Amino acid sequence: ANNRGCPPDGVELGRCSWMFLHTIAAYYPETPSQDQQTDMRQFIHLFSKIYPCQECAEHMQLRLKVSPPATENRIQFSQWMCNLHNDVNVRLGKPIFDCSRVDERWLDGWKDGSCD
Ligand code: FAD
Repeated sequence: ANNRGCPPDGVELGRCSWMFLHTIAAYYPETPSQDQQTDMRQFIHLFSKIYPCQECAEHMQLRLKVSPPATENRIQFSQWMCNLHNDVNVRLGKPIFDCSRVDERWLDGWKDGSCD
């Protein structure tokens, strides 16, 4: 954990970036306008170009070609983000996250009330 005011390493940058990306997805509109959908697709595309970890950015760009952002609505986009993250989890040998619980993790809090 970086509580010493030091520059982030790849782990910390990744953790904070996923928090940002999943939270953006959690608050994406239920019925986005065409402009909102275009903005989000462009944002994800640009994010994959500027992410300051070259290996990560290259993998994300390849993944976007195969699986472009599903920006139709909040649920589709949150699931798409979860799958993107799971793709990285698999590559890094980390556990797969259960995408049916993505709203509990990033929007509503766990059903057992532990976030209340
Ligand atoms: P993280 O993977 O950072 O996850 C943070 C939290 O998100 C977890 O604790 C969990 O609660 C939740 N979570 C986990 N999976 C999901 C999911 N599928 N959906 C929703 N929530 C979930 N690192 C590399 O070494 N090589 C790479 O190529 C690489 N590519 C990356 C690409 C991107 C776009 C990003 C944002 C990060 C990348 N990283 C990469 C960093 C890596 O994914 C992790 O962020 C880092 O290793 C820290 O992992 P962590 O175990 O703390 O949890």
